[in-house]
Amino acid sequence: MRDPRYDVLFEPVRIGPVIAKNRFYQVPHCCGMGHAYPKSIAAIRAMKAEGGWAVVCTEETEIHHTSDISPALEGRLWDDSDIPAFIKKTDAIHQHGALAGVELCHNGLHAPNMYSREVPLAPSDTMVDWGAPINARAMDKTDIANMRRWYVNAAKRAQQAGFDIVYVYAGHDMTLLQHFISKRHNQRTDEYGGSLTNRLRLFREVLAETKEAIGDTCAIAVRLCVDELLGKDGLTAQGEGYDIVAGMAEEPDLWDVNISGWENDSQTSRFSQEGYQEQYISFVKSLTSRPVVGVGRYTSPDTMVRLVKSGVMDLIGAARPSIADPFLPNKISEGREEDIRECIGCNICVASDNTSTPIRCTQNPTMGEEWRKDWHPEIIPPIKTREQFLIIGGGPSGLEAARALAARGCDVTLAEACEHWGGRVTSEAALPGLAAWGRVRDWRVGQLEKMSNVEMFLASKMVADDAFSFEAENIVVATGSKWQRGGFNASTILTPDDIMAGNLPGLAEKIIVYDVESFYMGGLIAEKCALEGANVTYVTPVAMVSAWTVNTLEQHRIQKRLLELGVNIICHQEVKPDLTLSCVFTGVTQKLECDTFIPVIMRQPLDSLWQELNQHADAGSKTIARIGDCLAPTTIAGAVYAGHKFAREFGKIIDPDISPFKREH
Ligand code: ADP
Ligand code: SF4
Repeated sequence: MRDPRYDVLFEPVRIGPVIAKNRFYQVPHCCGMGHAYPKSIAAIRAMKAEGGWAVVCTEETEIHHTSDISPALEGRLWDDSDIPAFIKKTDAIHQHGALAGVELCHNGLHAPNMYSREVPLAPSDTMVDWGAPINARAMDKTDIANMRRWYVNAAKRAQQAGFDIVYVYAGHDMTLLQHFISKRHNQRTDEYGGSLTNRLRLFREVLAETKEAIGDTCAIAVRLCVDELLGKDGLTAQGEGYDIVAGMAEEPDLWDVNISGWENDSQTSRFSQEGYQEQYISFVKSLTSRPVVGVGRYTSPDTMVRLVKSGVMDLIGAARPSIADPFLPNKISEGREEDIRECIGCNICVASDNTSTPIRCTQNPTMGEEWRKDWHPEIIPPIKTREQFLIIGGGPSGLEAARALAARGCDVTLAEACEHWGGRVTSEAALPGLAAWGRVRDWRVGQLEKMSNVEMFLASKMVADDAFSFEAENIVVATGSKWQRGGFNASTILTPDDIMAGNLPGLAEKIIVYDVESFYMGGLIAEKCALEGANVTYVTPVAMVSAWTVNTLEQHRIQKRLLELGVNIICHQEVKPDLTLSCVFTGVTQKLECDTFIPVIMRQPLDSLWQELNQHADAGSKTIARIGDCLAPTTIAGAVYAGHKFAREFGKIIDPDISPFKREH
């Protein structure tokens, strides 16, 4: 039964001509699918609607072929031929009583038009800011008239496709309408440039004309960046961000407000807490009678209630929390708050979009598999005949396999060598800023503890004889991995595992962190050692610190943090076994003094137990499998997925010659 304190979250909210059945609002978010995977994306949106979100929006949706941001995969409503794919989405959303929203967008100088080969458009002559070293040209009056018509025509197509909420989008520093508003991008001297009134003109015209065209049946939402965190160089919540909302307060049917660019809007938990946008957007409601939606990785129903009651927002916006748990609203409604699978703020989902690949999520292994594998986040088919499993290793992979197998009705025993659950997640969550990652462990352990068909044992290191004498029908080895020490000739070599185990170098020591992996670990170890007071040099063969975190939108912040901590950063250098640095281009070498060398190169599977068990496979168990990092070290998302996949597909005959999922053609 629902806690009456949360009733306020289930009040309906009028948005122009439509009514949201509650206050849970899935704001527009990308899925790395867009126009290329329409069935998959429709299934994702349907799942959110089924999970109780009152409003389910699309990803950004290009209105015209001059807004082509290939190779990024976003929605397209370029012409009428695009409508049928969107009808599938709106039908799927409506089936569960939710409203469907579409984030119409022209990307302006952010659209390199690599596919359409049109000349990019911008308020003023400038370089395209992404994807190609080419110019966008300044729009003339004809272009502006065309743009207004394109927007209205796309809005009409959206209405035809069945959308209830249509966005006029000026956010993330990725949209033409924001480019016109922005002093940085708009150097025009006509009535569309100069004063804020002039810079706002196109935005206002588009809003008014969209409303005029479809406002009888569709709510017209504005998505606006109110602060760019650039001080006087950008929009601010005390400056022009404020003035825009004050001046246009009643013009849209809904204000969807956030901070810009995307790296500010989708900050990771390493750099920000739940509610990190509140201080910037809280002024909006005092200026308008229209409903306001905002985001900030909200997963706590108590915080949501406070936001509504204190007048910060009317609708609780969520992208990532709705990805990690599409059923978050229903769980609150049913009094099952403790079952919410909370987003950990890792941005693996964002990385999918940034690599133009279908979305995946660390916490929700079914994300992206709804259509192609028919996976439902809350329902897993029971196993045909009850089986018994011994799972060795309680990291993300073992925990998820145990949970999902038990949910299928199997009898599960889980044995973990350490005195705590979580494996690498527990070690990594103790590093600076990563505490929220512990949710991967906490949610799974919480679920497992409620299941009567599961037995869990800590401090139980298993050897092959233990495993066989247990006489389990099936053994699953999920013993993880360890960081390689490498063949370096240093007086002291420590690995990330050593550092995470508390073996910290002495304060005054000269430390080299050599990062070949280039994800988060190398940068984090350098940060941790610098925080301990060590003299740290970070060396990498690539061009920047933690290079792959460009995809999680963190790279800039990570490098800034290391620089501020005084870490010496050396790029484009390989470290030879004798610790000589060698330039990757010229081979010129240099020597660095070092007391402790920390290689962050790659992890190796800890699979000796599996090897041993496999050698005696005839000793009783029907199956012996290995999953997760002990098969091949991967991301935490990959390890959770491996556990889930194993459980979901156990007993299914898999033909290795055939693709294991449906494909979109
Ligand atoms: P994954 O990401 O694949 O889940 P982790 O390294 O996070 O891998 O977790 C592996 C877990 O397995 C660790 O908690 C580790 O302590 C545990 N483990 C390793 N070997 C054994 C063993 N022989 N018996 C029981 N637990 C083990
Ligand atoms: Fe949250 Fe990470 Fe899942 Fe994205 S991938 S929704 S940030 S848990």
